[in-house]
Amino acid sequence: MSQLTENVELSFSESGALARAIKGYQPREAQTNMAVAICDAIEQRHQLIVEAQTGTGKTFSYLVSAILSGEKTIVSTGTKALQEQLFHKDLPLVRKALNKPLKIALLKGRSNYLCIDRLKKNSKQGAGVHPQIEADLSQIIRWSSHTVSGDLGDVPGIAEASMALPLVTSTPDNCSGRQCQYYDDCYLLRARRLAMEADLLVVNHHLFFADMALKDTGFGELIPQAGLIIFDEAHQIPDIACGYFGQSVSTRAFKELANDVILAYHSDLKDTKQLIKAAQIIERCCDQLRLCFSHHGERGDWGQAMSRKEVISAFEQLTENVDFLYQVIKISLGRSDQLDGCFERLIELKASLTLFQQHQKVGFSYWYEAGRQHLQLNISPLSIADKFKQHIDKYEAGWVFTSATLQVDNQFEHFKGLLGIAQATTLALDSPFDYQEQSLFCIPRYLPEPSHPQYVDQLSQLIQTIIEASNGGVMILVTSFSTLNRLHRMLEGNISQTLLVQGLDSKQKILHQFSEDGNAVLLATASFWEGVDIRGDALRCVIIDKLPFASPDDPLLKARLKDCSKRGEDGFSAVQIPQAVIALKQGAGRLIRDSQDHGAFLLCDTRMVTRPYGRIFMQSLPDMKRTRDVKQVITYLEKLNT
Ligand code: SF4
Repeated sequence: MSQLTENVELSFSESGALARAIKGYQPREAQTNMAVAICDAIEQRHQLIVEAQTGTGKTFSYLVSAILSGEKTIVSTGTKALQEQLFHKDLPLVRKALNKPLKIALLKGRSNYLCIDRLKKNSKQGAGVHPQIEADLSQIIRWSSHTVSGDLGDVPGIAEASMALPLVTSTPDNCSGRQCQYYDDCYLLRARRLAMEADLLVVNHHLFFADMALKDTGFGELIPQAGLIIFDEAHQIPDIACGYFGQSVSTRAFKELANDVILAYHSDLKDTKQLIKAAQIIERCCDQLRLCFSHHGERGDWGQAMSRKEVISAFEQLTENVDFLYQVIKISLGRSDQLDGCFERLIELKASLTLFQQHQKVGFSYWYEAGRQHLQLNISPLSIADKFKQHIDKYEAGWVFTSATLQVDNQFEHFKGLLGIAQATTLALDSPFDYQEQSLFCIPRYLPEPSHPQYVDQLSQLIQTIIEASNGGVMILVTSFSTLNRLHRMLEGNISQTLLVQGLDSKQKILHQFSEDGNAVLLATASFWEGVDIRGDALRCVIIDKLPFASPDDPLLKARLKDCSKRGEDGFSAVQIPQAVIALKQGAGRLIRDSQDHGAFLLCDTRMVTRPYGRIFMQSLPDMKRTRDVKQVITYLEKLNT
């Protein structure tokens, strides 16, 4: 046994550092096993995949091993919320318990930091425009006088989507870097400096892969080299990473550029009328292209879109006029710094646009996303396995991938295949919870299949019966916004408990209200399937409408399925089932979060028992007590409620 392993085991023991420093600490075998496996990954410089169920204490496992190893460490988490919890709560606790004075840092993406230059320039801009923007700006100005980190997540009472934020943050295009008069006090640069110097740096997957994609081009510089790299919530990596190894271009970028050209015209180049004309044409071409798609917003296959005459024509118009703007700016180069900057941006945008004239590169999906005002074109690789493997081979380090949901049908092959890490060591840790005693799982017997026209009506009846039996404390997770809206209409006014619905308030507020109320009903989709941690009696029942297969209209999924069939594989088994298994495990995992929790889990999809693939889903769920009889669930919930 190595010295590191010995020290780690000792820290987790009954009389170890954690027990001495943390009140109520109890050694857990699974937690120690994970920490020991990580020591091995560090010493052997290899990859380790750990599925650690809720309650295992995986965060402490990797933090203790990382800190005691003395290796420079990067911890990457799935979301900013997790990043903050780790940095502000878990990490200081473990560091103090181990009495190691290591330097720690938190690094987020550029748009999270206050830009002093933009704040000074734009602080008046919100006045009179919109009361909310004005109020948010005043709040930011007050906070800016005493912030140390400049992290806008710390401004009290500002919504994540506040329209004031773009006014006080920078983009690579509008940051003047070394020329900036606030360069020495810049919060973003300070955070990046601290990140470089840290012994343990906490980032998120988006930042990690953005940096990795840049390193690929020789420019990555935000995240330092490390001896240990840990991914928490690692099941999110494949999808997030795909986004960064592709390419995107948006009509927003062209319109912003046109706007800056117009500004340059007004400030320095009033004698060049062609400039303003060419820029205004670009704005019109962007709007025209956007208008070729549904005004509600949509996603789709770019190749298919380019078979429509009006899309081809609008796209060609944009391309031709971008060329025209290029020629016009070229004539005035050297007369205005602002215009010279625009020219460089235009060269990049022009190059990106040409990528979308062709849309048949093998191994990639070409797709579009029409938002309310802009159209974004994307190229995403169908797999990042080769790229990721190359990266791992290049950087000699211990790599740890952990999450509560990595296995499909009790195997890690799917996850290994997605990341190209076939050689990784694996470890599956059981939950410390007694699911047989703490939960009851039901696939209701007499419901029709989800495709049946009466399905949602009957589902709504069943949900109302369950809500009545448990007197609320119910979380309903559905797979689409259309089901969410229908159920919302059906439940509203028909239940006596507080009904909280996703979209009517921020996620944080809804969850807070749900926990505080104790008997509320929460109806949600999408982001609520993951990262929701409600312990105690407020949550007594989770209902899922159907197996969470991704929408067959998703262009990336379509492209992956096509790719599978080219290789002679069955896309349903290779792609759709594993994705849905991971999503279902995440949803079901909302119910039992603590050894004192009890509750019922209803999955209202009879395909679980009528289709052969149902077995894979069943095997992948925790070992709960099972029934198909709704009456048993009602009795169970009534008892919980007394
Ligand atoms: S260096 Fe860039 S991000 Fe920093 S204050 Fe200046 S403009 Fe803003």
